[in-house]
Amino acid sequence: MNIHEYQAKALLRSYGIPVSDGRVVLKAEDAKTAAGELDGPLWVVKSQIHAGGRGKGRFVEPEAGDKGGVRLAKSVEEAAEFARQMLGRTLVTIQTGPAGKQVNRIYIEDGSDIERELYLALLIDRQTSRISIVASTEGGMDIEEVAHSTPEKIHTITVDPATGLQDFHGRRVAFSLALKGAQVKQCVAIVKNLYRLFIDKDMDMLEINPLVVMTDGNLKLLDAKMGFDGNAIYRHADIAALRDETEEDPKELEASKFDLNYIALDGEIGCMVNGAGLAMATMDIIKLYGAEPANFLDVGGGATKEKVTEAFKIITSDPNVKGILVNIFGGIMRCDIIAEGVIAAVKEVGLKVPLVVRLEGTNVDLGKKIINDSGLNVIAADDLSDAAQKIVKAVKG
Ligand code: GDP
Ligand code: MG
Repeated sequence: MNIHEYQAKALLRSYGIPVSDGRVVLKAEDAKTAAGELDGPLWVVKSQIHAGGRGKGRFVEPEAGDKGGVRLAKSVEEAAEFARQMLGRTLVTIQTGPAGKQVNRIYIEDGSDIERELYLALLIDRQTSRISIVASTEGGMDIEEVAHSTPEKIHTITVDPATGLQDFHGRRVAFSLALKGAQVKQCVAIVKNLYRLFIDKDMDMLEINPLVVMTDGNLKLLDAKMGFDGNAIYRHADIAALRDETEEDPKELEASKFDLNYIALDGEIGCMVNGAGLAMATMDIIKLYGAEPANFLDVGGGATKEKVTEAFKIITSDPNVKGILVNIFGGIMRCDIIAEGVIAAVKEVGLKVPLVVRLEGTNVDLGKKIINDSGLNVIAADDLSDAAQKIVKAVKG
């Protein structure tokens, strides 16, 4: 789960980490008052969407001013005007995809005078099963380009969970950021508090870009992206309360209500599978035979008829889906129950695209018979390879 920049900064502030003073604005008429509460003489007007790259992003509507989703204002009036221009408009950045995201909240911040922009992130490194700190002197708006063309400018420091974060980790970060004197001490404190926050709140990603050296020599965090482990959200009512459902894929939101593990993807073949491992294998084999999965979907071990129906509704609501592959291994779950669920779902939701069903495991023969006798236009498949080839052929011809 992700949160907005202004929410992330409130968390950082509560952990004693230096961020600017700011006000969130939901309505254009409140922008002037909000900006007036900040000192100036520089104001930063920031579109709040769950995506980075806002500064270099572009609004779809020309009246929003073709200047990106983060703008510097020289007066309260100008800040209010920028906020008015951005609110309600659709911002497209490298991270939003071509459809962009509607800006419903604006964060107005007291502007800082920047000397250098740095990059600092904490993330879970699945290779080492540890938290990694990633630091670079090349912060700002082009970090993806830095990672691509000059990867040696990106430093990674991993933290052994047995010792936890020590001061030397912070000092290493400071040196890799070419910080000097009092900045080193500030950096050690910042890294320590970021790590504490990361652990306390079960984050899976924390990205500060940029962390800046200001002209007065002090450090400050000017941007923050935070992601939280969805499986641990139940432990953090304060974080759960920050959820902005308007930022989420409506299909994923619907799936979460029915406890389905669903992730929308860009391909054309909808997948309904039980078990995360089988779901991944199914996606792989679809790609192997030359098509792309439209989603990841694990209906879980104890999929009921209701769950299967819901899953079908979500898959068929995606206009990109040109065919559906149901791939179920009946273990605890019996194949005949699944078959009945699939048939009921098809009858309720309707079927406008080819459907291939592959069943294996307990009561497989009965399950296949139910599918074959249903009179519905369902293509039965024998094994995973057969199923993938059949659905790819049905979709691509
Ligand atoms: P992003 O484009 O979505 O990553 O948004 P950021 O919050 O990182 O802002 C983009 C850029 O705006 C930063 O890299 C800075 O160059 C600039 N910026 C942000 N805040 C300030 C500020 O307080 N003062 C100045 N001078 N520039 C800022
Ligand atoms: Mg940024």
